[in-house]
Amino acid sequence: MTDLQPHTVRVLDVGETPPGSVRAHWLHIINNGLGEPVRVPILVARGKHDGPVLGLTAALHGNELNGIPIIQRVIADLDLEVLRGTVVGVLAANVPGVLRGERSFNDGVDLNHIAPGKPNGNNSQVYVHRLVDRVLKQFDFLIDLHTASFGRVNSYYVRADMNHAVTARLARLQMPDIIVHNPPSDYTLRGCAAGLGIPAVTCELRDPNVFQPGVIDTGTLGVLNVLYDLDMLEGEVVCPITDTVLCQGSFWMYTDEGGLLTVKPKVTAYVTEGEIVATVRDIFGRVTKTYTAPEDAIVVGRSVNPINQTGSRIVHLGRSPRTIPCITADEPRAATTRTTP
Ligand SMILES: [Zn+2]
Repeated sequence: MTDLQPHTVRVLDVGETPPGSVRAHWLHIINNGLGEPVRVPILVARGKHDGPVLGLTAALHGNELNGIPIIQRVIADLDLEVLRGTVVGVLAANVPGVLRGERSFNDGVDLNHIAPGKPNGNNSQVYVHRLVDRVLKQFDFLIDLHTASFGRVNSYYVRADMNHAVTARLARLQMPDIIVHNPPSDYTLRGCAAGLGIPAVTCELRDPNVFQPGVIDTGTLGVLNVLYDLDMLEGEVVCPITDTVLCQGSFWMYTDEGGLLTVKPKVTAYVTEGEIVATVRDIFGRVTKTYTAPEDAIVVGRSVNPINQTGSRIVHLGRSPRTIPCITADEPRAATTRTTP
């Protein structure tokens, strides 16, 4: 049973969706300056059978859009008769950012740097606090769907704490090009979730401001893999690629010379120590600086914006890249290996 006529609520209660049904909600989270509601669109798909709550969040950065159709597709295709548990999809976590086509909230703050916010804080703090308090706390697992920022492009990569067994499993099930081991940082939504005992990964689904069919397909399969792996759906994990590149951390290179920037390697390319990765020219075309890779690495993301003020980003490099195998059938499933972080 699907009821996509949205219900407006002040607090999302996933248990209010009847078993075997999908409901669309507008979460009335704040009022704008004219006293009108700002409402977050959320789908709740509750299976006929009891089970965990898998949360999917998209567009916490307002111009990072590839997660939106992933949530729509996953929920549209769910077989609620067999689903164990609930899938919650927050389709546009940062509503003012989406409407402005911008990464940040409408007070200029990055919501992924201030979670869990404050109940009596400023504009962005109170918004993210309500998102956490009224939605996120009900999740048992979180997949936070992002992309690169404006002026940059990403590989399809996942940020995850690979020292946590279930989180590592969630990361590998996404079948990304690259996984960057990254302990949960304070004040990200992922870090906030981890602090609440909710295993969480951040998926960086390529590029901002667009819908990209290829990575949307892969991202959708990745979420389905998690549903199979958690025994929420009957089925086999799909793994059309054979491996993923795991990096033990990553870092950005920045320019110390302003001018027109050309970055050479594409995303997912390997670079070796000393290899030229970028040049800066002045507006007359004279090369004023070249940049070389400080170590062997893989390109996780890169700038595509030639207009480079001193201190701009060049490339995002993954450290100590090594290939790890795809999930194999004989490994225990996440459903049987869940631990308290
Ligand atoms: Zn983001």
